[in-house]
Amino acid sequence: MEKKVDMSRFEKYESPLFHRQTLIETDKWDTKILLDTIKKNGTDAQIIVAMEELSELIKELSKHLRDKGDINHISEEMADVDIMMQQLKIMFGNRPKVSMYRTEKLERLAERLKDDSAGY
Ligand SMILES: [Mg+2]
Repeated sequence: MEKKVDMSRFEKYESPLFHRQTLIETDKWDTKILLDTIKKNGTDAQIIVAMEELSELIKELSKHLRDKGDINHISEEMADVDIMMQQLKIMFGNRPKVSMYRTEKLERLAERLKDDSAGY
């Protein structure tokens, strides 16, 4: 006999409110860890770590282009860079400005795509 699964307990995962709340909670959790890390090590040390993590990703991407890449190493370095980008935004207090430039640049890319396809 087929076992009945109570789907009602999964409903909350489909709610947009749940996803929004999860994002907010994750962001708060990330931010606390990152802030504590910056306080513990200092901003100069964390800027140096950011530069080192960026160079580690550059190295892994370079290996990829020489056919010596490893998706696990690339993924790990991308995660490190992502974490350091978050710390940089906290340290420079420029999250809204970065977000604004990000949107502007994506809009520019979208415009260029439109221009490119206009010729066809
Ligand atoms: Mg690394």
